[in-house]
Amino acid sequence: MQIAVFSTKPYDRAFLTEANAGAGHRLRFLEARLSPETASLAAGEGAVCAFVNDDLGAASLEALAEGGVRIVALRSAGFNNVDLGAARALGMTVARVPAYSPHAVAEHTIALILTLNRHIHRAYNRVREGNFALDGLLGFDLCGKTAGVVGTGKIGEVVARILTGFGCRVVAFDVAPNPACQAMGVAYVGREELIATSDLITLHCPLTPQTHHLIDDAAIGQMKRGVMLVNTSRGAVIDTQAVLRGLKDGVVGSLGLDVYEEEADLFFEDLSNRFIADDLFARLLTFPNVLITGHQAFFTREALGAIARTTIENLTRFERTGRARHEVAIDKVMG
Ligand code: NAD
Repeated sequence: MQIAVFSTKPYDRAFLTEANAGAGHRLRFLEARLSPETASLAAGEGAVCAFVNDDLGAASLEALAEGGVRIVALRSAGFNNVDLGAARALGMTVARVPAYSPHAVAEHTIALILTLNRHIHRAYNRVREGNFALDGLLGFDLCGKTAGVVGTGKIGEVVARILTGFGCRVVAFDVAPNPACQAMGVAYVGREELIATSDLITLHCPLTPQTHHLIDDAAIGQMKRGVMLVNTSRGAVIDTQAVLRGLKDGVVGSLGLDVYEEEADLFFEDLSNRFIADDLFARLLTFPNVLITGHQAFFTREALGAIARTTIENLTRFERTGRARHEVAIDKVMG
């Protein structure tokens, strides 16, 4: 197939080229982010390959379809950036990578938790400046604390296992409890109970209309004072304005984010020579107890290799049979 690969970074090019070696697709690597304005770059190609911050709204999909695109192959598990109704109306297939390395995301989540708790980000700078004072670096034992995991699918399960290993009491909320978590002693509770009893809350559910702003003013109002909140799922699961109020009030004791509601205008680019135009994001950066990484939880060699192989497999299968290996079941998702 001829495939326009949007939002290409050097690492995407390297891993996709390697995965494509035996498949023989013609990959055209584009640095541009996919949007209604850039969709015409794919004209004449049968497929596009896109990532989390590419705009796959109705206008982009219509422009892609006009150019002859029949399949969107996402290099991600989440598909919240795709207008599935528009894809269905246009007869366009949407494929994704449902599982690549839950360990990559889970281990990054734990890195955020440990760094925030023991203030490693601050200690690193202090020691380099010859400041060996410990004031302000006080942490707490994770052992014995209650950790609340929202969403116990592939990633949440690995997080629960690691936290259980630390000696945490793990409670979870999920619309579909995971037997593997139950077997390791995770206690499923209601959303309100999880929010009210957890010392640490970590989010691993997809972004859907039901989970949009799951963490809002009302939820924060029920949290334990000083709670640690970590989000490596999707930015809009948290109402950022509300969490900012929670940080100012001291209810949210620390915040670890790998994703942000408005990340599309920031993440994956080097903006170090510009100013940050997003005032809310800039305000978050003023808190010593806020740690943000730029959507890098997936970024391990193992995950990138698996993403590239599954993406190529999706496209090869679609070319041969008209069905991708991992299609988003649009009818099921939309009801
Ligand atoms: P998964 O589908 O295996 O698990 C998601 C879980 O969330 C399921 O158990 C599901 O039942 C549960 N869930 C669905 N709706 C819910 C609701 N309303 N309330 C509570 N639970 C709900 O997905 P996964 O592979 O574990 O990934 C989880 C999320 O992590 C993805 O949707 C994606 O947004 C995010 N993610 C982030 C990165 C990153 O780099 N930061 C990488 C991969 C995935």
